[in-house]
Amino acid sequence: MIKTIKGVVISETPYKESSKILNILTNEGIIGVISKGCKNIKSPLRIVSNKLTYAEYIIYYHEDSLSTLKEGSIINNLSNIKTNLTLISYLIYLTDLTKQVISEGNKEVIFEDYINTILKIEEGLNPLILTNILEVKYLDYLGAPINFNSCVKCGNDKDIVTISSIEGGYICKNCYTNEIIYDSKVIKMLKMYYLVDIKTIKELKISDSVINSINEFLTDYYDTYTGIYIKSKSFLNKQIEY
Ligand SMILES: [Zn+2]
Repeated sequence: MIKTIKGVVISETPYKESSKILNILTNEGIIGVISKGCKNIKSPLRIVSNKLTYAEYIIYYHEDSLSTLKEGSIINNLSNIKTNLTLISYLIYLTDLTKQVISEGNKEVIFEDYINTILKIEEGLNPLILTNILEVKYLDYLGAPINFNSCVKCGNDKDIVTISSIEGGYICKNCYTNEIIYDSKVIKMLKMYYLVDIKTIKELKISDSVINSINEFLTDYYDTYTGIYIKSKSFLNKQIEY
C-alpha cells in the first residue's frame, strides 16, 4: 500500500552499502523505513534521509515490517534551528522526549503539539518557554498531570499559596509547611502553558524570572513524577544555566 506521511527522522542506521534504515516520528507513531541507495550522491532520497529532517514521505507501507521509501520532499528545512547550537539542543531534547511520549496517548495530538513547538522555535519564539509548554502538556500522557484545580492535600480551591513539584500541585494556606514559595505569576503562567494552543501563539512576553522559575519547577516535577531521564535535557539545562 502506498501511503503519504509527514514526519521527522529520529534515527538513521547504515544498511548495506548505500542504504539506510530510518525511524520517522509521525502522527501515527514511529515508522521504520528502508531508504534504498540514499547514500549515493545523486540519490533523490539523499537529503530527506538525514536525521532531524522534517519532510513529507511517500512510502510503500508494511504494517508488520519495514516500509520502503519511494520519495520525499522537505516541508521545512529548519535552517534557523540547524545553524544555532543551542537551538539544535532544544530540537534534540524535544525529539527525544516526544519519542518516549508518542506511544502513551493520542499520537495525532502529540505529534501536532511537537511539530508546532518546533516550528515556533524555528520562527524565533523563545525556545525555553515553548519547551516548557510542551512538557506541561505531555504530563497528561505520562500519567502525572499537575493538579491545577485545588490544594493537593485538602482539596480546598481558595487561599492557594504556592505550587509544589514534590506534592504535585497547589498548596493552600492551611496545608502549607515548608514548600518553596513560587510567585503567583509563576502559578498563573504555568496553568496558561497547560491551556494554550501552541499553533496560535504569536508572541511570548514573560519575565525572565517567571520563565526560569517555571523551568526549575518542571525539571523537578519531571524528576519526581515521570521516571523519564533524558540525557539531552541535562545537557540543555547546562547550556541555559543562569
Ligand atoms: Zn490544603
